[in-house]
Amino acid sequence: MGFAMKKILCIGLCVLLFAGCGGYATVSSERFESMDTFMQLELYGSEATTVAVKEEILRLDGLFSATNADSDVYRLNRDGSARIDAATREVLGKTQEYSVLLDNDLDIFVYPLVEAWGFISRDYTIPDSAAIAALLPAAQTAAVTLSADNQAQITEQGAKLDLGAVAKGYAADRAVDMMRAQGVSSGILNLGGTVAAVGKKPTGEPWRVGISDPDNSAAYFGSVLCSDRFVATSGNYERYFERDGRRYCHIINPRTGYPVDNGTVSVTIISDNGFKSDALSTALFVKGADGAQAFWQEHPDFDYILLDDSGDLYITEGIADSFRLLSGYDYTVHTIKSGRA
Ligand code: ADP
Ligand code: MG
Repeated sequence: MGFAMKKILCIGLCVLLFAGCGGYATVSSERFESMDTFMQLELYGSEATTVAVKEEILRLDGLFSATNADSDVYRLNRDGSARIDAATREVLGKTQEYSVLLDNDLDIFVYPLVEAWGFISRDYTIPDSAAIAALLPAAQTAAVTLSADNQAQITEQGAKLDLGAVAKGYAADRAVDMMRAQGVSSGILNLGGTVAAVGKKPTGEPWRVGISDPDNSAAYFGSVLCSDRFVATSGNYERYFERDGRRYCHIINPRTGYPVDNGTVSVTIISDNGFKSDALSTALFVKGADGAQAFWQEHPDFDYILLDDSGDLYITEGIADSFRLLSGYDYTVHTIKSGRA
């Protein structure tokens, strides 16, 4: 089954499980493709709001796409500098702040490495170590300077960036802001696996958001209760290839230039902000179980669920009670507590 078809199934099931609230209020829904994935909006509000939210997400995709020749990111990568939209400016500024906070495990300038491994063309290859070494310095040191008139400039020759790690989270924030501005206070938005659970279900209960089974993208291994939360997952099953029994996933360790291979299978972040959830899901995937725990203990303003390849599942104490492991999954659950062990 193709990647696209799996995503359709996954989103279909999500709606079946978590948005089935017929009889309480009118749901207005939209399904569409954007940001290289499938999205589904379910709003308890007017169709006009749902359509406006969809159009805004499509507009952001048009600005952020690294492959669409009209986009801000494409022009910036091609020319080294460009005039960009206020939204692109905001997402670039936030990304740089988070990269510092995350000790550069979030590094949007790994894009030439993402390309070299074939994740853009889907013509997967293992680059030789010299090619990786040649691309690494610019990826590690590049920055983008932003001026007040929305002019952006990349500081390193040959450096290129990609907002794939944060675009859906940022779009989720914008979508929820728009909903609220138009008086809609309930809904569930699934932007290709980055979920915004807005308000409560019309029944008054919190939403229950599923966490994808890494071995079967049409299923969930668990779920968590959420209200006004953004849930983002990064996993090694999202996009990968295999050679000689080894798996190479689409998240690159910016210290090595190689796909992350630290035993982590997936990291789900639950927080009050979409950008934060998306940025942290990618970066904590790079950090791995120990690094994620250390980071969380320093910055406990979010919760996470981390699954490793031994079947150990680490869950922070804030959501331990609302998490439910579905039957048939024999993961060993560990609760991560605040403070140092
Ligand atoms: P997904 O897009 O599957 O939801 P992520 O949010 O984790 O997953 O983003 C992964 C994307 O981010 C990759 O496809 C790539 O374009 C880019 N990327 C890969 N490694 C990094 C990294 N270390 N920092 C920032 N972006 C990265
Ligand atoms: Mg991410």
